[in-house]
Amino acid sequence: MNVRKLTLCELKDKFMKGEVSAVEIVKAYFQRVLLVESKVKAYITTAKKDALVKEADELDFTLSKWRKTMPLMAMPIAVKDNICTKGVKTTCGSRMLENFVPPYDATVVARMKEHGYYLIGKTNMDEFAMGSSTETSAFGPTRNPCNLAAIPGGSSGGSAAAVAAELCVAALGSDTGGSIRQPAACCGVVGLKPTYGRVSRYGLVAFASSLDQIGPITKDVRDAAMMMQVIAGHDPLDSTSADVPVPDYMKALKENLRGMKVGVPLEFFAEGLDPEVELAVRTAIIQMQALKAEIKEISLPMTTYAIAAYYLIATAEASSNLARYDGVKYGHRAKEKGLLEMYMKTRQEGFGAEVKRRIMLGTYALSAGYYDAYYGKAQAVRTLIKRDFDEALKEVDVIVTPTMPTPAFKLGEKIQDPLQMYLSDIYTISVNLAGLPAISLPCGLSSGKLPIGLQIIGRPFEEEKVLRAAYAYEQATEWHLKRPGL
Ligand code: GLN
Repeated sequence: MNVRKLTLCELKDKFMKGEVSAVEIVKAYFQRVLLVESKVKAYITTAKKDALVKEADELDFTLSKWRKTMPLMAMPIAVKDNICTKGVKTTCGSRMLENFVPPYDATVVARMKEHGYYLIGKTNMDEFAMGSSTETSAFGPTRNPCNLAAIPGGSSGGSAAAVAAELCVAALGSDTGGSIRQPAACCGVVGLKPTYGRVSRYGLVAFASSLDQIGPITKDVRDAAMMMQVIAGHDPLDSTSADVPVPDYMKALKENLRGMKVGVPLEFFAEGLDPEVELAVRTAIIQMQALKAEIKEISLPMTTYAIAAYYLIATAEASSNLARYDGVKYGHRAKEKGLLEMYMKTRQEGFGAEVKRRIMLGTYALSAGYYDAYYGKAQAVRTLIKRDFDEALKEVDVIVTPTMPTPAFKLGEKIQDPLQMYLSDIYTISVNLAGLPAISLPCGLSSGKLPIGLQIIGRPFEEEKVLRAAYAYEQATEWHLKRPGL
């Protein structure tokens, strides 16, 4: 049995039945890390092998006497480096937090711990989650395991690459404008951004608080459902977390789409969409129809303004959230004598170019005299975008679109051109502005053998329906098995 080829659900079943031990699991993954991590560079920090093997050994011994089951027991899972892990460095891909060791666990991490998971490593990311390629990380880029010359997507590029390269069995990412779905599409894996408020943000280092959500990146849809079962739910420590009961996501998975109404928005198949991506997504829609879904053309006219609104709202919130990095309480501190000089030098040294660009943009958008023209307008547009979706989702159950306009581009190709980089999130950003759940799953390969992602968007708190549609499509096709490996 090749342990690292198994999905989370398969590995968990084999472990529960005693067909594979915790030590075997841990060793198999560390062997893989030793073999390919130097090529992929998915991790900023990896767990200490000896310590984890010892823990696994003790677990195997205990289980030999008393078989207790927990859903994530002994499962090596990776966590994006902007999610706090007690006692383990959490850098946000930034020099500013290079040596920051959180004194507490994020709620999602605490929940996974209660369910027995093993933290295999903290994954690389764009600095403070600002980017679409993982190239803005202060610790160097991650590479796409499907093609080492290509970007893995971003900002959760390390998490997506780690799952695709079998460096972990599943991972957590965060998504403010596409950062779970877009890298999942680039690396040929599954990424789910939950409804805003579905998963606690406590312990997630804030980028744009009204948009950020944590979610799973996994090998297939069933694994995403399983991860959601563990991390979703109300948390009194996050005032924006919703007190909505968590359904049984695994039970919601069915292999047909009978009667489901699937909307296809006109505006998502317009200029800028790569023909190979369009063909793959249109083929997927035909396959969904064959699975008895009812396909309906819809319109989301405000889509055109999504990028502009997002880059005002997200930067405004970022400029305020990142004001806390002043060298006083934690993080990097410059060696300057005067207080003001110390503040300025700390931020100059600690932040990279993209973060500085966003802080400046956001501060400008919020400044007196410009607030109404920029931030206020962007908020008004956000309401209209949400209204578009509300209207459309009265007529259909889910909406299907491409995740990204092109397959993964080459490393270095867009890093000097921020606008081009921003455009790679054109299909994911409006979903965050509207606060909706959406999944990306593989639906094809380009002629260059790079994965293509299909996005399925749902109504608020209807992750089950999104998962069900994704699962039915996945089970009827083979794209999730065709990921080009290393
Ligand atoms: N790429 C988008 C940005 O740069 C989204 C990032 C994210 O979702 N964290 O802001």
